[in-house]
Amino acid sequence: MNGALKIGTVKGIKIQIHWSFWIIVFWIMMTYYMQSHNVKDALMGGVFVLAIFACVVLHELGHALTAMHYGIKTKSITLLPIGGLANLEKIPEKPKQEFVIAIAGPMVNILITFILYFVLQATDMFPTQEDLKRMLQNNQKFSAQMFLFNLMAANMILALFNFIPAFPMDGGRMLRALLALKMDRVTATQIASSIGKTLAIVFIFLGFFFDFWLVFIGLFVYLGAGAEAIQEQNKVAFKGVKVKSAMMRKFPSFAETETLEDVVKHMLKTQDKEFLIFDINFTQVVGVLTQNEILTGIQTYGGDTLVSEVMNRDFVVLHENEDLNEAYLKLLSSGLSAAPVVNDEGQVVGMIDSDNIKEFMILKLSHELKN
Ligand SMILES: [Zn+2]
Repeated sequence: MNGALKIGTVKGIKIQIHWSFWIIVFWIMMTYYMQSHNVKDALMGGVFVLAIFACVVLHELGHALTAMHYGIKTKSITLLPIGGLANLEKIPEKPKQEFVIAIAGPMVNILITFILYFVLQATDMFPTQEDLKRMLQNNQKFSAQMFLFNLMAANMILALFNFIPAFPMDGGRMLRALLALKMDRVTATQIASSIGKTLAIVFIFLGFFFDFWLVFIGLFVYLGAGAEAIQEQNKVAFKGVKVKSAMMRKFPSFAETETLEDVVKHMLKTQDKEFLIFDINFTQVVGVLTQNEILTGIQTYGGDTLVSEVMNRDFVVLHENEDLNEAYLKLLSSGLSAAPVVNDEGQVVGMIDSDNIKEFMILKLSHELKN
């Protein structure tokens, strides 16, 4: 994901924070400062948010490490203001595995809740109802006692929230996995997503009477339910389709020794936006160049820059007989919009980009509608 800062790696999984996340930290700190006019409170507010997000990372690691157990790799975990996102290389096809991977996340939060509960009990710090009332009134939010208690409560909420049986929550995946034991995956997804949508509407309705936050949660769930169903339909549209049916056999290519200006001249004459970059003898692909690098490259270094200086050297190579759906997921997780396609001999026989996959899908779906 663009604009994400890498903070570490756990068992080969990159952990990164999206820039928009810092807005939330800053906003919480400002809110505390406005309330108390106390820098220490503001700082503690920030530390508290970071502690919650550390728990979110542990939750995502719960998914990722369970997936790893089933041989599914996770490329990265990204922290967004709305929570974490574990970028699994593929979705487990076996319902049982999907269920275990989905439940592993919220189970981590339940575990943290119990640990904090026992720590508070063992140290005699567990607040009584009197304590809670007094602390709320005095605004003493950040004694060690309150810090641990609030963190415990936050983990409990995270766990409960994720057990809501609707996409994109883990509960939606658990529900789908359970349904998929009895029926095919697409029907299971459709039923799970309708249940999610119904729940979302109930949330939105209740939100207007009780707590406005429910309206936001409802909207979030409603949108997530739709997206998951569409993604699942795409998978079916691609079922049994090979990369070679969707790839472009004629594709724009340049040698790494050519300049950005050469590329731009070509772009002005054609519709091409992505390019495969070859070595000087045109024997193998050494990079992928997209509009992004071309524009920033020209702005920063000028038009006479060699393409080899700005191209992406880290790209995926797809095989012509590969399943289109798997290929699409690989392309998405590479973060680039295009990839070279090779045959058994390793020769480059085509190029695939996300636009041309989308067009292919629209064609295929409209063809199916006609029949
Ligand atoms: Zn989760």
